[in-house]
Amino acid sequence: MAQPAPVSQLAPVPTDIASAAPAGPVTESVSRVALPVAFNVESRIGTLPWENETDYLSYMEANTGEAEDMLKARYALATRFIGTRELQGNAVEAFLRTPREHFVRERNLSRAYEDTWMPIGYGATITDPDVVSMMTTSLDIKPGHRVLEIGTGSGYQSAIISNMTNQVYSIEIIAPLSKETDELYTSLTPKYPQYANIHRKMGDGYYGWEEHAPFDRIIVTCAIDHLPPPLLRQLAPEGIMVVPLGPPGRQHIMEVSKTKDADGNDVLKRRDVYNGLQVKFIPFRDESGTSYSGKAGE
Ligand code: SAH
Repeated sequence: MAQPAPVSQLAPVPTDIASAAPAGPVTESVSRVALPVAFNVESRIGTLPWENETDYLSYMEANTGEAEDMLKARYALATRFIGTRELQGNAVEAFLRTPREHFVRERNLSRAYEDTWMPIGYGATITDPDVVSMMTTSLDIKPGHRVLEIGTGSGYQSAIISNMTNQVYSIEIIAPLSKETDELYTSLTPKYPQYANIHRKMGDGYYGWEEHAPFDRIIVTCAIDHLPPPLLRQLAPEGIMVVPLGPPGRQHIMEVSKTKDADGNDVLKRRDVYNGLQVKFIPFRDESGTSYSGKAGE
């Protein structure tokens, strides 16, 4: 994973959210079109035994038929992230139920549980598993939450989330990648029926997914230097958005929470979840390929 940069090298983090977000109303949308739940994963939450490796292995081998070497590697990585507190709460089970080996490229199969990002073609990457863990933990997803991901990429992040709630939405801008991952989910669904709850589309995630808004949780997996106003508007009251925020090449993982002040106005609170550690995500871009960073506004 990324190493902590000395404090002197860190980009200043604006303390006032308004300085990072372009002007615009931060009101929530009213529409909320519910899609049918293809598989109720929520009744299964909490049923995975993971306190010790033996119980985990026998449960997973019986229920998924996954290879023991992959399961052991996944368990070891999860144990490490539990130790660093990057993996907590519902995110532990979701991580342990998600076969990263299906989301890396074939040539990287033996490296599926290395703690590193890897190329997945089209200039995109599958994010490091520790950062995926930290972002998932920060989202604090509860059953019933409607979650939107910007940047489907390999599909790994949304696969994890689909173990935590029945309502997952994910947008990818690169057409062939979006199609490839859509087909991957379809092919995995007989064995992992929760992937049928991942509603995916090809498009520009800067504008969110209006017809299914508001979202209780939004996770942005591409780098941007401001909070996209449409995503802020589509974030539900009491919602949380997690986003790699910062200039190209160095971001901080920000957790942005929407709450109300005493007068009932929307207030955004932010927290740097890695407390100064910098990460590097690939750019949040528009349909022409131009980065949204440096051009705040709609
Ligand atoms: N969550 C992914 C990470 C993929 S990398 C995973 O688990 O593998 C980030 C992804 O964001 C890339 O696939 C990139 O194409 C996508 N992206 C960049 N700008 C986007 C936009 N405007 N809308 C949707 N996706 C975008």
